[in-house]
Amino acid sequence: MQFRDLKKQYEVLKEDIDREIVEVIESSRFIGGPKVSELEKRLAEYVGVKHCITCGNGTDALLLALMAWGIGPGDAVFVPDFTFFSSGEVASTLGATPVFVDVIPETFNMDSDSLEKVVKKTLEDGKLTPKAVVAVDLFGLPADFPAIRAVADRYGLKVLEDGAQGFGGQIGDGRACSFGDIGTTSFFPAKPLGCYGDGGAVFTDDDDSAALIRSFCVHGKGEMKYDNVRIGMNSRLDSIQAGILIPKFEAFRKHEAADVNKAASQYTELLKDIVETPVVPDGFVSSWAQYTIRLNSEEERDALKIALQSREIPSMVYYPKAMHCQEAFDKESLGDGEFPVTDKLCKTVLSLPMHPYLTRDDVERVASAVREELSKLR
Ligand SMILES: *Cc1c(COP(=O)(O)O)cnc(C)c1O
Repeated sequence: MQFRDLKKQYEVLKEDIDREIVEVIESSRFIGGPKVSELEKRLAEYVGVKHCITCGNGTDALLLALMAWGIGPGDAVFVPDFTFFSSGEVASTLGATPVFVDVIPETFNMDSDSLEKVVKKTLEDGKLTPKAVVAVDLFGLPADFPAIRAVADRYGLKVLEDGAQGFGGQIGDGRACSFGDIGTTSFFPAKPLGCYGDGGAVFTDDDDSAALIRSFCVHGKGEMKYDNVRIGMNSRLDSIQAGILIPKFEAFRKHEAADVNKAASQYTELLKDIVETPVVPDGFVSSWAQYTIRLNSEEERDALKIALQSREIPSMVYYPKAMHCQEAFDKESLGDGEFPVTDKLCKTVLSLPMHPYLTRDDVERVASAVREELSKLR
């Protein structure tokens, strides 16, 4: 069994994907061109925003958003403590300080009460200026944007949605990557919508941010590429990846997003009485980048992982180390220094195989293995 079966997906979509790749090669338009514009148009329409700007990867997408806001030294950017490194790394890349905020155990996402506490603490300390919050849609579930937005508005903070894992999620009729002032995603192969290499995108309704980001990702271009009006970077999605993403996005939109939700419901049904299963609040829809259960202890989690492996069932620990424990960050990043939820999650989470081509039989096999092994361990 595969943790995320990209081979199976390719078998299903092979004809369309191969045709797209050949078309790009035959056209010799390897950078930019019609495939990239077509993809940007379709993604912006789906997400429900005016602008989609593709770029080199999900980390660059976050960086470009912070650059558009002029984030730099002396600025505080609030980031959940339980996330992938990039969410906080980008603030540091620009000389700003990521300040970590604890999360909610049931949803794994940023806790808006902790956010407010940490913003207040930062203001009291007086060393950094609160500027922005990076709210991550962890494991596919949109963060609690209504609550986060309320806090952000009280303190004049910009909201950046890190939708690297969240593409396809919803709150009501709103789609992930549309909830921040700027939203970003990643097309890393294992993400909900992945390409066959690196790729990313930025989404926004704001014309000025969109224009700045288009400039930043082409060396700070002005009127044209050889007129450079600001210091930028080189970050673009290549045409072959855009071509690959077009049929993959169609499959995602038409059935994959629903298929992962079906698999997730089956897991929850089969597992909810023995482990803590992930919670999707009313009105929210997840795109299930991961299906993550919580065990009783680190010993139990580690033993279950090994037992599943011996049955050839892969599982992963996302994430074993909290942001506040990463040596790369300074002590100014510690905020109020309290991360009890993240500390516990790092010891007790386990992500199970999850992808749109998982069959009912696969889900049952994984769930029975979890049940049997836990009954031996407990
Ligand atoms: C994967 C990921 C990123 C970075 O995306 P890349 O395309 O790998 O640069 C950022 N944030 C989160 C939450 C991610 O999971």
